[in-house]
Amino acid sequence: MTIKLYNTAKREVETFVPRDPKNVGMYVCGPTVYDTAHIGNARPAVIFDVLARLLRAEYGADHVTYVRNITDVEDKIIDRAAERGISIEELTTETTAQYHADMAALGVGLPDREPKATEHIQGMIDMIQTLIEKGHAYEAEGHVLFDVPSMPDYGKLSGRNRDEMIEGARVEVAPYKKDPADFVLWKPSPGDMHGWASPWGKGRPGWHIECSVMSKAELGEAFDIHGGGRDLIFPHHENEVAQSCCANDDKTFARYWVHNGFLTVDGKKMSKSLGNFFTVRDVLDKSTRLEGCAGEIYRFVLLNTDYRKPLNWTEDGVLNAENSLDTIYTALKSLEGIEADTSQVADGIIHHLSNDMDTPFAIKELIAIAKEANKASDDDEKARLKGLLFSGGNLLGLAQQSLDDWFKGSKNSVGGADGLSGEDIDNLIVERVDAKKNKNFARADEIRDSLKDQGIILEDSPQGTTWKRA
Ligand code: AMP
Ligand code: ZN
Repeated sequence: MTIKLYNTAKREVETFVPRDPKNVGMYVCGPTVYDTAHIGNARPAVIFDVLARLLRAEYGADHVTYVRNITDVEDKIIDRAAERGISIEELTTETTAQYHADMAALGVGLPDREPKATEHIQGMIDMIQTLIEKGHAYEAEGHVLFDVPSMPDYGKLSGRNRDEMIEGARVEVAPYKKDPADFVLWKPSPGDMHGWASPWGKGRPGWHIECSVMSKAELGEAFDIHGGGRDLIFPHHENEVAQSCCANDDKTFARYWVHNGFLTVDGKKMSKSLGNFFTVRDVLDKSTRLEGCAGEIYRFVLLNTDYRKPLNWTEDGVLNAENSLDTIYTALKSLEGIEADTSQVADGIIHHLSNDMDTPFAIKELIAIAKEANKASDDDEKARLKGLLFSGGNLLGLAQQSLDDWFKGSKNSVGGADGLSGEDIDNLIVERVDAKKNKNFARADEIRDSLKDQGIILEDSPQGTTWKRA
């Protein structure tokens, strides 16, 4: 397969050629762990999870290293811990655990490595020192700043001119800066403020240096893919390029820059600062479905729009996702008892995914296979289609629930306001079987109709009666 990716650095779709196919590296900027993730934050997690699955399929899981960091040093963390009256460690541990649980519900696996910024402070100090020695950084009033004019290529990744950069970065115009575009590598932590000893006094690192150091520690000076949301192109990724290329011997750094578009609400970027957000936890908790099934529905929504385009979050999108997944699970149900032919690979799905991760078309292909399976009568054909559903679903991280969970799945009640549990329904099915045996067809019909009114459909077959949600 030939994987093609849109490379922000080149502003075009390129064929992905790894530096070493036996050692493919991808670094994605992970969460700043001060607050729960909103569904917009989940978009890059899901998108790069799919890219990691694709790379593993192509190069072998042992030859791909996917790194997603945890930013556990940042001023927002210090402020939030103080607001909540808890320690920084308590806040970051709690938020990291929450992030893992939320992403797991969305079918996002753990990356191969998950470095924490706090584990790399010495590496940051070392890189800052190298930058000073090489004439790319200077100390001023307890701060260390990157000297932007010392790097002629600064601005190349984002394609911004100098004025746009100063405006876009909203860098503080501080008297100790030699140039308004210069950005902070290290800042002082006065008094008892959280910080680490350094050659420039007690302080803490800037956010950008964290990723330059963690990517180098995990993947080396040069690696293949660097990803994140498009808001990170400038200043975060531009500054990472500046730091890494000026400090490292190898000037390549990341070769393919991949950025996802924003998740929007009424056309506006979902963000904490605009207040137009809902957390992953909120949407999972609100759903009546089991967590894994609800998560899969939201994952579907996140994958059903081209990853580079804005994704407007709507109720209709969620409903469409649920219906489409139902089509896929219904097909799998019709294939129950058939052994999947796993020698098959879903070529169509691979074709679309390798075309700059065209997930909406890959999903269309998965649904088309499901519809074909519904019509299939030959057992070999059924086995082939079941294999395709599994392999294609696995690449997308969809169709991963058990049939039981999908069709009956509800946290506590399935029947609506009066709260019928799965056990209640099973008991009613037993009662209906007894009623039929005793020729009490009126009672049998009454049970069926009453369940139907509550959104539960009974399906009779020679093997017995099963139920599903309407
Ligand atoms: P943050 O915790 O704000 O640093 O964001 C974590 C990740 O989520 C970054 O890769 C951001 O680019 C991404 N992100 C934040 N908001 C959105 C959004 N509304 N849509 C898509 N990605 C987002
Ligand atoms: Zn980063």
